[in-house]
Amino acid sequence: CPQLPLCIYKACQCVPRIKDYGPLLDCDHRIGGYYHNHTKNQITMKRIVVLGAGESGAGAAVLAKVKGFDVFVSDMSAIKDKYKQQLDSHGILWEEGHHTEDLILNADEIIKSPGIPNDAPLVLKAKAKGIPIISEIEFAGRYTHAKMICITGSNGKTTTTSLIYHIFRSAGLNVGLAGNIGQSLALQVAEKDYDYYVIELSSFQLDNMYNFRANIAVLMNITPDHLDRYDHNMQNYIDAKFRIIQNQTHDDAFVFWNDDPIIQRELKKYGIQAKLCPFSELKEKGVIAYTEDNKLYFTEPIAFNMEEEELALNGTHNLYNSMAAGISANLAGIRKETIREALSDFKGVPHRLERVAAVDGVEYINDSKATNVNSCWYALQSMKTKTVLILGGKDKGNDYNEIADLVREKCSGLIFMGLYNEKLHDFFDGFGLPIVDVQSMKDAVDAAYQMAKKGETVLLSPCCASFDLFKSYEDRGDQFKKYVREL
Ligand code: ADP
Repeated sequence: CPQLPLCIYKACQCVPRIKDYGPLLDCDHRIGGYYHNHTKNQITMKRIVVLGAGESGAGAAVLAKVKGFDVFVSDMSAIKDKYKQQLDSHGILWEEGHHTEDLILNADEIIKSPGIPNDAPLVLKAKAKGIPIISEIEFAGRYTHAKMICITGSNGKTTTTSLIYHIFRSAGLNVGLAGNIGQSLALQVAEKDYDYYVIELSSFQLDNMYNFRANIAVLMNITPDHLDRYDHNMQNYIDAKFRIIQNQTHDDAFVFWNDDPIIQRELKKYGIQAKLCPFSELKEKGVIAYTEDNKLYFTEPIAFNMEEEELALNGTHNLYNSMAAGISANLAGIRKETIREALSDFKGVPHRLERVAAVDGVEYINDSKATNVNSCWYALQSMKTKTVLILGGKDKGNDYNEIADLVREKCSGLIFMGLYNEKLHDFFDGFGLPIVDVQSMKDAVDAAYQMAKKGETVLLSPCCASFDLFKSYEDRGDQFKKYVREL
């Protein structure tokens, strides 16, 4: 605050507390939810409006209230009962089904849910009025001194985040899991706070982060996704992902997949201060994790290795996820024995190459979270036997050329499960494989049971969103598991 030295009010409590609350947004000294206006010598309550009352919004509202702000929550849709109760129990005012502009545009700061686009009319109005708009993670980051391990990328975020959390917990560290998974960061900071947080960050969350600093930033990969939210401009999406390294200092670390051409190109643009920690399947110059002779090597800060077959998660993509997680744990000072053990006994994340059961000598694998062609590619690539692939659903402009070779090499049959399967037929009918059309999970599992021969695998890895026949990818995966178990 440039005016800080000019503060003449002896009663002002702000100076010693500024450290606690980070950079000032204006020349008023903030004390939690209150701020001291020098000119008027008044203490005023600062107003925070939270847009969107899901997990992150409700958590942010609770934290803001606990820190003494005047809080209001507004959601265009219906708010879930669970969150209404949470808000009520803290005496927080809320509205649902509409936005009352008069109650919103008088905010000192707005915390926006990542689900609300940056060009939503209300957001544009708030911007025009100069109201700062931040994310829940940015807000929560102001009130904790915990070390932050943040993970982003187009694919592999949830798996890597869960794996890192599992290693940290196995090491006995006081660690919270946040971001797109589990409880919001804000609620955890408000209620218990931890020494470490492992946080999954989507590009939407990163969009509204400015001063937040990741002590360890992990960038898994960048492939086209969510371009509708980025003016159909890939560079905008890339820039959002790279926000994960903003504010990093030379005390921090940046972990990334060395073989991603986009990451490589972009790296050169930034004067990155953090320690660079690249990983690769190959032993390339500079990488600090790689594979050789079926072993996984970590070189820094502590060198150790383990057999690839000891890893709990299979497939090349999970090799990358295990490397990123192992590096992060190694950087945090966790013992190599603990890292090895935790990488071997991790139970996996539901709906990501999740083994369901073996029935009559056929393995059934649930990869319902494969909602794009790229993730199905990695799933197919990790199959060790001939595979009956169940795919289809709500197509997001898919190009199936990416999996064509793997389908020819690995698949013994295809099951198309969607309301509209024409595009799949146009592409795959010429492959000479048996194909069955279904419009429910029960029929898909029955058809797979008929089609798969002993020793083969049935893989649900749909390449598509689930909303034509299911509520969500979780619903799709849960139904798959249910019907497989009933076989
Ligand atoms: P995200 O949280 O980024 O969506 P998940 O860990 O939930 O990623 O995995 C989503 C899908 O992507 C899964 O179906 C999985 O098979 C595939 N996948 C996981 N890790 C990777 C990776 N590192 N690279 C490419 N695909 C991956």
